[in-house]
Amino acid sequence: SKHGSSSRNASTVLEKTPKGIVLGKDGKPCRVCTTFRDWTKQERKKQHGVTEAVGTFSAAALNSASTSSIPQAPQECPPDVEQLGRATWTFLHTMAAYYPEVPSYEQQRSMKSFLTTFSQFYPCDPCAEHFRDEMRKKPPRVESRWALGRWICEMHNLVNEQLGKEIFDCDKIDERWKDGPKD
Ligand code: FAD
Repeated sequence: SKHGSSSRNASTVLEKTPKGIVLGKDGKPCRVCTTFRDWTKQERKKQHGVTEAVGTFSAAALNSASTSSIPQAPQECPPDVEQLGRATWTFLHTMAAYYPEVPSYEQQRSMKSFLTTFSQFYPCDPCAEHFRDEMRKKPPRVESRWALGRWICEMHNLVNEQLGKEIFDCDKIDERWKDGPKD
């Protein structure tokens, strides 16, 4: 595949067309793989050129995006790659925070199976493919709440690193995702 292990960096910092659009595995523009900013830029160009539209952003959303002051997709819009990412990490870290301290064999098996299924259906396909690659190299740790939280933190840090974001201190996951700051 074009996002094979030899192009790991390119698959994390998603491969874009010159206009910033990320393509899905069907070769078509993938809305949920692209940032709202890049997607609306393309939509505006299309509207001016008057060809058929790929998406259906409301006129209000397009207008606000055209001011270039809206860095994120408005609430009522389908998620972009960043919104989906934030919502998903929130879910994954929170799930790990409330996973049993000492999970049964059955719970460990279910969690492994969930993570495998998750990596097959995550809707930003190039993101999912990269996640599957990393999972093969570093299989999920499901033997305890601590181990799972750590593993997800480390997976998230791999993406952070590739995107040039700050590396998160994995000793702070309970404070961030379960207990809140100490006073
Ligand atoms: P996010 O990275 O979404 O993080 C949300 C919050 O989590 C942060 O504000 C911080 O408080 C906390 N946090 C940060 N790091 C950690 C950590 N290591 N452990 C615990 N908590 C942490 N985007 C791409 O452009 N390319 C990709 O290939 C890609 N792959 C992804 C794969 C998956 C499985 C997911 C869920 C998302 C992926 N994303 C990808 C999206 C990307 O990771 C971000 O979610 C998105 O860029 C928005 O970033 P953000 O700065 O808002 O914070």
